[in-house]
Amino acid sequence: MNFFYLFITVLWYATSLGAYYCPYTCSADPLKQIYPDQNMCTLMATIPPELKGLSYGVYPTCDIYNTDRFSYNKRLNWFPNAIFTPSTPEQVQHILGQCIINQLPFYVRSGGHCYEMVIPLGYTIDLRNFNNIIPDPTTSTVYIGAGCKLGDVISALGAIDYAIPTGTCPSVGVSGLALGGGIGFLIRKCGLTCDSIISMDVLMANNQLITVSESSYPDLFWALRGGGHNSYGIVLGYTFKMYYIPTVSFLQLRWDWDPQTFSDVFNAWQKWVTTLPENISSETVFKYKDGKARLSVNALKVGAAPFTEWERTFLRYNPTTTALYRGNYLGAAALFASNYTFPFSKTKSKMFFQPLPQRGVDALINWMRVLQDEHFHCEAFWGLGAGNPGAITKTHSAYFPRKAFGWALGFIYWPYEHQTIRALSLISETYCQLEPYTSPYSYVNLTDYDLGPSYLNAYYGPHVDRLIQIKNLYDPNNIFHWVQGIPLETP
Ligand SMILES: Cc1cc2nc3c(=O)[nH]c(=O)nc-3n(C[C@H](O)[C@H](O)[C@H](O)COP(=O)(O)OP(=O)(O)OC[C@H]3O[C@@H](n4cnc5c(N)ncnc54)[C@H](O)[C@@H]3O)c2cc1C
Repeated sequence: MNFFYLFITVLWYATSLGAYYCPYTCSADPLKQIYPDQNMCTLMATIPPELKGLSYGVYPTCDIYNTDRFSYNKRLNWFPNAIFTPSTPEQVQHILGQCIINQLPFYVRSGGHCYEMVIPLGYTIDLRNFNNIIPDPTTSTVYIGAGCKLGDVISALGAIDYAIPTGTCPSVGVSGLALGGGIGFLIRKCGLTCDSIISMDVLMANNQLITVSESSYPDLFWALRGGGHNSYGIVLGYTFKMYYIPTVSFLQLRWDWDPQTFSDVFNAWQKWVTTLPENISSETVFKYKDGKARLSVNALKVGAAPFTEWERTFLRYNPTTTALYRGNYLGAAALFASNYTFPFSKTKSKMFFQPLPQRGVDALINWMRVLQDEHFHCEAFWGLGAGNPGAITKTHSAYFPRKAFGWALGFIYWPYEHQTIRALSLISETYCQLEPYTSPYSYVNLTDYDLGPSYLNAYYGPHVDRLIQIKNLYDPNNIFHWVQGIPLETP
């Protein structure tokens, strides 16, 4: 009898403890840890049955969860309930349908390069399997699946001497880039990445798949090209106009650290970009890496004509390195391809409508001084419109700063988690110093949560009201939302 009583007591404790006991172990590695208050059991327990056990679901109990839950930037240490990697529109519809019925937060991931944690809790819908690239040279169009990376697109199109305008980093997703704009070396010749979109296949808040183009849902077409991040629907694929580009030249000039030379070259570049024809796009890059501070001027010229326009302006400053490539676009893209070397990063951006005055240039150069003893970083300026506007001003969409002189983007990246606070304060300090010489506008693709409530104006300026109207029309229940999404009302 006593024995039976003991057995019942043990059973009772075991059952009640079951609610608190998680059979899965936690790792000591901070990048792998499932925090005790957000542990695997808690995450698993809240997943509705219809979303459990899917062959394309990565759950907290799966070995690859701790790799897959991260995106590119390891600063964003987030714990989704599950990561779904669907391969068909029907599978995405199943997930979206369940998220709508159960009111579950979710976000869409394509290349995973967003600089901030898109939502704090919920599900990731990862579109990596939507990776078709189908070019059609007879119509100069290409179908690109929403999960494609820039490197794959550049390679597939470059192999047949075609290109679409993209950014420079091969692992960035076409979707995030195009839905926020898309700035790169073809900008003055072909415009932003979003300017070449002809149509998009979009899964909407009513879980219906529609095709959006200039003639079909034109207001949505306008909104998605610049304001499309996770706010109106899930884009599953794009038809882009592609450009035949058999020959280009790519210039790389570099100077080693010398404050006076940096100032002179940067000022010369600011004048030079205003004189360029549309087939040349250029950037300057201030960079501190591997113990060395450098300033580079890079430029791409489209076409077979020799590239000599730079010589009169820059040769007098005696570049430490001069490299001039001539060949196909694929070869040039390999030269401008850039990836970070460290896992943690943060970015900030500012649009300039005037050249940076000398005091702004001095602020940048001072920042280079401070960073020399501290971290790897990269700071770039692009000649966007720069006096002679180029293709970017020929299209209208939610992306608005089309007449900007240039963008100042700051990247800082670092190897160890404990350096995070210092790195974040360093990048903030520089941007405070640039503030008096810039505009209130930033680039949504360089997502920055420090903007706080001013983000709508910073990213969309005069387009905010129209974006909100279109949001009310197509997603009145705010199914698609994220920290810096398009809201239903002006805040
Ligand atoms: C190393 C690096 C280099 C970069 N270089 C450039 C550059 O040269 N030029 C430039 O313009 N930008 C550049 N960027 C910025 C880049 O364009 C943005 O970070 C972009 O949003 C990343 O897209 P993604 O698909 O990789 O990211 P994701 O994190 O997958 O997506 C970004 C945002 O878009 C949403 N989203 C993604 N896919 C979809 C979809 N299919 N439907 C609806 N919403 C979706 C996501 O929910 C998220 O809010 C760079 C970023 C990094 C990290």
